[in-house]
Amino acid sequence: MSGAGWNVVRCGACSTCHGHRGIGRVCPHCGQKLESDAEIVISVSTASELRIEVALANTPEELRDNLRARLKSNQKLIQQDEPISFHGLAQVLIDATDQKGVLTVQSLQPALDRNGDSLDAQDLIDMAESQGMLVRLRADYWQLLE
Ligand SMILES: [Zn+2]
Repeated sequence: MSGAGWNVVRCGACSTCHGHRGIGRVCPHCGQKLESDAEIVISVSTASELRIEVALANTPEELRDNLRARLKSNQKLIQQDEPISFHGLAQVLIDATDQKGVLTVQSLQPALDRNGDSLDAQDLIDMAESQGMLVRLRADYWQLLE
């Protein structure tokens, strides 16, 4: 498969899938550097398709058909059943928001550091955006959807 567009990439270290524009450098779940030949599960052309495919890739196979139907019937649906590894990061995102639920790279990085996380704030934002947790308001401002 080509590495162009939006890719669902499987981390060789933790086997968790995440979305990336092109090929990422670091797994957002476990922080391991991605191999240059990391598995691309599927390539799609839009961020909204990517969100669905990432969610599906991290869902047990027997639940996928049901989830796919739900996601496709409501593109704005916020999943109740995020991958477990995502919960800690969701809390970091919440910690980084102001009273209006808005966050920036500048507010997120200290929250990541407090959490002892080696993740890059921009990488986490890209991931959360691809999972439908964040909506970009304008350059460098994101709204957290709860
Ligand atoms: Zn990983």
